[in-house]
Amino acid sequence: MTTLANDAFPNPAKGEPFLLTPGPLTTAFSVKEAMLRDWGSWDGDFRAMTKSMCDQLVALAGDTSGEFVCVPMQGSGSYCVEALLGTFVPRDGKVLVLANGAYGLRAAETMRYLDRAYTLIDNGDYMPPRGDEVAAALAADPAITHVIAIHCETSSGILNPVAEISEATYAAGRKLLVDSMSAFGAMDLDVRRIRYEAMVSSANKCIEGVPGFGFVIARKSELEACKGNSHSLSLDIHAQWTTMVKTGQWRYTPPTHVVAAFLEALRLHAAEGGIAGRGARYAKNRDVMVAGMRELGFETLLKDRWLSPIIVTFFCPADPKFVFTEFYERMKSKGFIIYPGKLTVVESFRVGCIGRMDEAVMTRVVQAAKESLTEMGVSSAAPSAAAIAERAKLAA
Ligand SMILES: *Cc1c(COP(=O)(O)O)cnc(C)c1O
Repeated sequence: MTTLANDAFPNPAKGEPFLLTPGPLTTAFSVKEAMLRDWGSWDGDFRAMTKSMCDQLVALAGDTSGEFVCVPMQGSGSYCVEALLGTFVPRDGKVLVLANGAYGLRAAETMRYLDRAYTLIDNGDYMPPRGDEVAAALAADPAITHVIAIHCETSSGILNPVAEISEATYAAGRKLLVDSMSAFGAMDLDVRRIRYEAMVSSANKCIEGVPGFGFVIARKSELEACKGNSHSLSLDIHAQWTTMVKTGQWRYTPPTHVVAAFLEALRLHAAEGGIAGRGARYAKNRDVMVAGMRELGFETLLKDRWLSPIIVTFFCPADPKFVFTEFYERMKSKGFIIYPGKLTVVESFRVGCIGRMDEAVMTRVVQAAKESLTEMGVSSAAPSAAAIAERAKLAA
């Protein structure tokens, strides 16, 4: 059993529910406790904290040769995606955006705001971008300089084939950027196995910190060439990096308490066995939860091959007595916050597997879903025929 110590959990007696959401998520008590003091942003103690954090993150990306650097950036994940695109894509560059959900579309929207050229492959709610599709798009347009891929598209929970996308990108002589926001720390994105120039993630996803900053892990030689690309003073990753190298400081006020919490989260991550250990717990969370939900009659949007251990989309039951908002409130009253779905075609909801939770908690989630259905008078959790037909479009 992949179980956690009891003191890791939120306190239901105090009315604190588990967040079955992809961040902010349920954090360990010790992570929250780490914030109970103040740090001076320029002080040596805090500079050492920043350095330790960056060194640990580069190591998690598998870099052992000093080829990669980590640059933290204030703000939520989207700020950091904007910083990534604005810094790494030259003003006369062109990006192929691979979208199969809300976060891919947000990357395209970011390009529009940046007023830089891009081409969008929009595969709808979840259909994964495949290597041959990427190869064809790159062959058709020699102006494309970069590809941006979403590692786990959190809006459906699909795990996109980044290795395949990376191969197609570099075979065509272009460069890959990865939004691994909801995957890094639990899924492999090792620079020795998957080639990319830079990836971005944030504090409040699989490392299980609290929200407040994100970070870019980038090939140093690539970052060095990015001076002057950025459209934004505060979101310039190159400027943030050069200041950090020179002074050890963030350029503007850092989220000191969030960094302290994140260091404790990194300690727990290492104690759990790093990426492999964290990924195994999340996979177990998913397996126990999905099996239990299927037993109740619920069906997943994705076939097993595409199910990430991050978050799972379920179709809403076809039974007219099922109303999502009511189901949500009933789950909440039992101590579990679930997440609305983001599909445009059929009704759905999502259950996250990440955060400070283990299989014993996931078993209770299934029990709470069962009781909620009974209370609502829903006799079957089976989805509509339209939902099943939708899923049939996806390869096994
Ligand atoms: C969470 C997430 C983001 C960033 O979202 P914020 O709400 O700005 O933190 C970006 N991409 C993916 C894939 C995500 O899961």
